[in-house]
Amino acid sequence: MDYDVIVVGGGFFGMYISEYFARKNRRVLLVERETECMRRASYHNQARVHNGYHYPRSVLTALRSRISFPRFIEEYNDCVVSDFQKFYLIGSPLGKISAYQFQKFCERIGAPCEAAPNWLRRLTNPHFIEACFSTVEYAFDASALRDTMLRRLSIASVEMRLGAVVENVRQESNLLAVTIRKSDSSVEELTTAHVFNCTYSNINFLLSNSGAAPIPLKHEMTEMCVVEVPDEIRQSGITVMCGPFFSVMPFPSLGLHTFSHVRYTPHYEWMDERGGADGAQNRLFDAQPRASAWEAMRKDAARYIPLLNECRYSQSLWEVKTVLPRSETDDSRPILFRANHGLPGLHSVLGGKIDNVYDVVAAIEANGIGL
Ligand SMILES: Cc1cc2nc3c(=O)[nH]c(=O)nc-3n(C[C@H](O)[C@H](O)[C@H](O)COP(=O)(O)OP(=O)(O)OC[C@H]3O[C@@H](n4cnc5c(N)ncnc54)[C@H](O)[C@@H]3O)c2cc1C
Repeated sequence: MDYDVIVVGGGFFGMYISEYFARKNRRVLLVERETECMRRASYHNQARVHNGYHYPRSVLTALRSRISFPRFIEEYNDCVVSDFQKFYLIGSPLGKISAYQFQKFCERIGAPCEAAPNWLRRLTNPHFIEACFSTVEYAFDASALRDTMLRRLSIASVEMRLGAVVENVRQESNLLAVTIRKSDSSVEELTTAHVFNCTYSNINFLLSNSGAAPIPLKHEMTEMCVVEVPDEIRQSGITVMCGPFFSVMPFPSLGLHTFSHVRYTPHYEWMDERGGADGAQNRLFDAQPRASAWEAMRKDAARYIPLLNECRYSQSLWEVKTVLPRSETDDSRPILFRANHGLPGLHSVLGGKIDNVYDVVAAIEANGIGL
C-alpha cells in the first residue's frame, strides 16, 4: 500500500481532511488538479464566516453555524477579519421575512441583533427597507487561510501532487487503486485503503469514472462581483434579507468587497443527471462566455441603498456552486457525506460552507473511518 489515505481535491475540505489523518500518523497524499491549492470554490466565495443569520428558513443550519462560528474564529484567528460592522437589512415588500420575525429568529438562535445606527438607516430607501439591524458576523481571508493550511500540511508531513487529476478509483484485491494523470500527461497508479473525494462540483466525475452511482447534485454557474465600495460603508458588510436581494461583504484577500445578488449571481443551473463523467462542469466553467451581470446587480441594489450606485467594479469571481437538491427549498447547508459509496473505502464529501468542515470530521469519526 502506497498511502493509508489519498485525498482528491486540494480545496479547504481536502486540505483539512488530509491534515486530520496525517496528525493521526497516517501516510496521506493530497492530489489537486490546479497548480495551487484553494483556487476554486474555497477562494471564489463570499468569505462569510456564517454565524446563523443567513438561515431563517433552516433553524438547524443556523444553530450549527452558531456552534461552528466560535470554533472557526479560534482555530483561524489570523485568517479572520472582524474589524467591520455587519448589518442585516429587512427587504420589503418582496421579502420572505418581516423585521419582527427576524428578531425573533435571532433570539431563538441566540445571535446578537440590535437596531442599526441612524447613519446606516439614513442610507437606505424606507420604501424598500423595513428595518436595519447590527449583527456579529466576520469574513475570512482566503489567501491567509490557504497559507495557514499549507503550513499545517507541511508540519503534518502530508505529501502533495499539484496539477494532477485523479481519473478513477478501482478495487484491487482488498485495496483501492487510484489512477492519477500528471501535468506532463504521464499516469501514476497508487494504492491506498481510503480515498476521500473532496472535489466539490466535480464529485460525480470521479464517481462515474469509478463505476459508482452519481449523487444527485444541483450546480449553478455563479458570478460574485468584486467592487470598491464608497468610503461611508468601507468598514461595513450589508446583507438584505430574505428574498431576491443582495449582499456586500468585505473580501479580505483583495482588500475590496464582494457583491452577490440572489437574482443575478446565478447565471444558469443544471443537475448532474448523467453523472458528470465527461467533465461537463469543467468544460462549462472554462468555456462559458462570462458576460458580467454587474450592471443589473448595481441598478437593483441602488433601489434599496442609493449610495451603492457609487461602487466601482473591479472584477468578477466565477465559480460553479454545488448544493444538495433539497437545499433549494429550505436554503439549508447540510454536509454531504457518503462513506463507502460505490466502492468500499471510497468516501465522498461536500460542504455547503467553509465551517461545515467540523461536521465532516464528526461524520468521519462517527463512521470510524481510517482510525
Ligand atoms: C458563489 C459562492 C459563494 C459562497 N459563499 C460562501 C461564504 O460566504 N461562506 C462560506 O462558508 N461558504 C461559501 N461558499 C461555499 C464554500 O465556498 C464551499 O463550501 C467550500 O469552498 C467547498 O470547499 P471544497 O474544498 O469542497 O471545494 P473546492 O475549494 O472547490 O475544492 C475542490 C478541489 O478539487 C479539485 N479537483 C476537482 N476534481 C479533481 C480531480 N479529479 N482530481 C484532482 N483534483 C480535483 C479542484 O481543482 C478544487 O481545488 C460559497 C460558494 C460559492 C460557489
